[in-house]
Amino acid sequence: MAVNLDFTIYHNIINNELSSTSSTRHSINPATQKPNPEVPLSTQHDLDRAVKAARDAFDHWSKTSFAERRAALNGYADAIEASADNFAKLLTMEQGKPLAQSATELGMASSWIRVISGFEIPRNIIDETENRTIIQRYTPIGVAAAIVPWNFPVLLAIGKITQAVYAGNSVIVKPSPFTPYCDLKLVELATRFFPPGVVQCLSGDDSLGPMITEHPGIDKVSFTGSILTGKRVMTSCAKTLKRVTLELGGNDPAIICDDVDIDAVIPKVGILSYLCSAQICMMIKRLYVHESIYDTFLQKLVDFVKTFKVGEGTEADVFVGPVQNKMQFEKAKDLFQTITTDKLKAVLGGDIQDSAGYFIHPTIIDNPPEDSRVVQEEPFAPILPVLKWSDEKDVIERANALDTGLGSSVWSKDLDRAQRIADQLQSGSVWVNSHFEVAPNAPFGGHKQSGMGVEWGLTGLLAYCNSQTQWLNKSP
Ligand code: NAD
Repeated sequence: MAVNLDFTIYHNIINNELSSTSSTRHSINPATQKPNPEVPLSTQHDLDRAVKAARDAFDHWSKTSFAERRAALNGYADAIEASADNFAKLLTMEQGKPLAQSATELGMASSWIRVISGFEIPRNIIDETENRTIIQRYTPIGVAAAIVPWNFPVLLAIGKITQAVYAGNSVIVKPSPFTPYCDLKLVELATRFFPPGVVQCLSGDDSLGPMITEHPGIDKVSFTGSILTGKRVMTSCAKTLKRVTLELGGNDPAIICDDVDIDAVIPKVGILSYLCSAQICMMIKRLYVHESIYDTFLQKLVDFVKTFKVGEGTEADVFVGPVQNKMQFEKAKDLFQTITTDKLKAVLGGDIQDSAGYFIHPTIIDNPPEDSRVVQEEPFAPILPVLKWSDEKDVIERANALDTGLGSSVWSKDLDRAQRIADQLQSGSVWVNSHFEVAPNAPFGGHKQSGMGVEWGLTGLLAYCNSQTQWLNKSP
C-alpha cells in the first residue's frame, strides 16, 4: 500500500520533526529549466541542532540489537518499495534520468537495504587459552554524515543511511544542492521507522558541506563526489581526525580484445557508455578496441548508439535524458570545443545545441590522441573516445596511466587471457565481459585518486565501525 507523503512541500528532518528555515532555495528540472519546489537553506544553527539530536540518539540507538535495527530497516525498505513510483517520478524531475532508470534506482535502494541489514557483524576470537581470551569486536563510531552527489541521490543516500544505522550510528544526510528532493522525502519517510535523531536530513547550499566536515560533533564522513571536493573533505576532516570514506571520480577504461563476438558485445558496451547520460562514476569512459576489429566495431557502435532516443525522462523510450545541471552542461560544452581545437574526428554527434533543457546527443570520437582532454579527463557527459590498440602490454599501460582507478574491464572469449589482463589493471573494480556491475554484498571503492576505503559488502559496513580488541584475563 502506498505510503502517505506530500511530494509538494519539503522540510529538513531534525529529531524526527519537519523543520523549516527562514530562507529557502530551489533547484531546477534539467529537462525544462523550470524551477522545482522550494527547499530549506540550512544554517550553522540547523546543523548544530541536528548534531545535538544525533548525539543524543546515538546513546540509545548504539545499544539496540541488530535484530531491532534490521526490523526498522526492513520496514523502511517496504515503505520505499510501496511508494517507489512517486519517488521515481520525483527523481526524474530533479535528476533528469529517464523514468525507467529512476525506477531501477528505487528498486535497488529497497533491495539493498534488505541485503545489507542481513549481514552478521563479526565478533572474532583471536586467541583463547586457559588464562585469557582475546576478542576483536566492532562498535559503532557515533554520528555519521552522508554527503551525497547529484547523479544517484537515492541509492547513494540509502546505501550510506543503511550502513550507518545498521552498524549502530546515527546519520545526517546532506544531499547535493542540485538534487535535494528525494533525499528529504526519503528521510521524512524514515522518521516512521527510527527513533528521533537517528536519521536526519539537511538541505542547503555550497556552504553546508564544509560546515559538516568542520563540525566537531560529527565522527565519520562518508563522501561521494568529485576528486577535487574529496581532497577538500579530507583536509577538513583531518582537523578532528574524523573517519572518512571517499568514493570519487573515475575515468574507466574498457579493453576490447580481437576475439569478441562483436554483435553481442556492442549493445552492452553502448549502454554501459551512455547510461544516465554518462554521468556515472563507473561508466566506460575510454574504450580501447583491438586494431584488427576496430573499423567494424566502431561502425557498429555508431549504428547502435545513434538509435538512442534523447529527450525528457518522462517521455516513452527515452534512453538519454539531459545532463543534470548548468555547471555540468557548461563543462561539457567546454570539452566539446576541443573537438575543433584538437582537430578530433567525431563519428557521431559532436556539437551541443541550445534547447529548453540540458540535452547533449551521444558523441563518439574516433581514435583521438592519448593525451587529448577527451581521453585524459572524466567527461561526465555523453562523449566517448574510442581508441585503437595492438599490443597487450601497451594497452594495459595506457589503461593504467591516469591518476584515477575506479573501474576497468576486459572483454574477450578467452577467459585466461582476460584474467591475465584483469590481474594487471589498477582499479577498485575489474570486470570481465561486463562493466558497472555492483551488488550490496560486494565491496566497492577506488584505487589511486578515485577514493579511500570502500562502501558496501561487509568491508564497507565495517567502515562505519571502530575495531575494538578486548583482552579478557581470567585470573585477576
Ligand atoms: P561534488 O564533489 O561537486 O559534490 C558532491 C557532494 O559534496 C555534494 O553534496 C556537494 O554539495 C558536497 N560538497 C561540495 N563541496 C563540499 C565541501 N567543500 N565539503 C563538503 N561537501 C562538499 O560532486 P558531484 O558533482 O555532485 O558528483 C559528480 C562526481 O562524483 C563525479 O566526479 C563522479 O565520478 C563522482 N561520483 C563518484 C562515485 C563513486 O562511488 N566513486 C559515485 C557517484 C559520483
